[in-house]
Amino acid sequence: MHLKALTLRGFKSFASATTLRFEPGITCVVGPNGSGKSNVVDALSWVMGEQGAKSLRGGKMEDVIFAGTTGRPPLGRAEVSLTIDNSDGALPIEYAEVTITRIMFRNGGSEYQINGDTCRLLDIQELLSDSGIGREMHVIVGQGQLDSVLHADPMGRRAFIEEAAGVLKHRKRKEKALRKLDAMQANLARVQDLTDELR
Ligand code: ATP
Repeated sequence: MHLKALTLRGFKSFASATTLRFEPGITCVVGPNGSGKSNVVDALSWVMGEQGAKSLRGGKMEDVIFAGTTGRPPLGRAEVSLTIDNSDGALPIEYAEVTITRIMFRNGGSEYQINGDTCRLLDIQELLSDSGIGREMHVIVGQGQLDSVLHADPMGRRAFIEEAAGVLKHRKRKEKALRKLDAMQANLARVQDLTDELR
């Protein structure tokens, strides 16, 4: 399975339809500062279902829609399509080539498609879930993230590993459960005090 092409239309700085074709092997995107290299990576995570505006380096989700420049008015919608070569059947769908599309309108509405057919976000997440790509798969390493891993103290490094291994969410749930248990113990003690007073 390999990513074949990414098409951006009205996504961030890509006002006009722009298609990047990825040949087998390594693809490098080069360009001056602020020319939109990271926007390409943002488009990749967005089309795969990213729901966090902060992860897309914006304040709100609509920030992915082309906001206009001095010579060009803002657009009303952003659209990104990712074409995946599925000739090895890595994705559980009967197509040798799969195109997933995400569209967002400035009024907040959005749409997802698989090979042109409207679907739910859940369908895209399920399609990608066993493929090793997709959201929360830790396959996109952002600028500065390597630095923070390399410079993390042992506890910080452990947190990265736990997050990658999926342990962090269970640790958080455990902490929440322990807090509830503490509150319950305090309530029990209070009930015990009241019972003692009534005796
Ligand atoms: P660097 O090498 O400095 O990291 P880069 O090539 O990765 O830069 P990006 O961060 O991808 O650049 O692109 C930043 C540019 O995208 C800025 O000029 C910013 O104004 C533009 N941009 C971001 N969001 C939008 C938007 N919604 N509409 C129009 N332009 C946008």
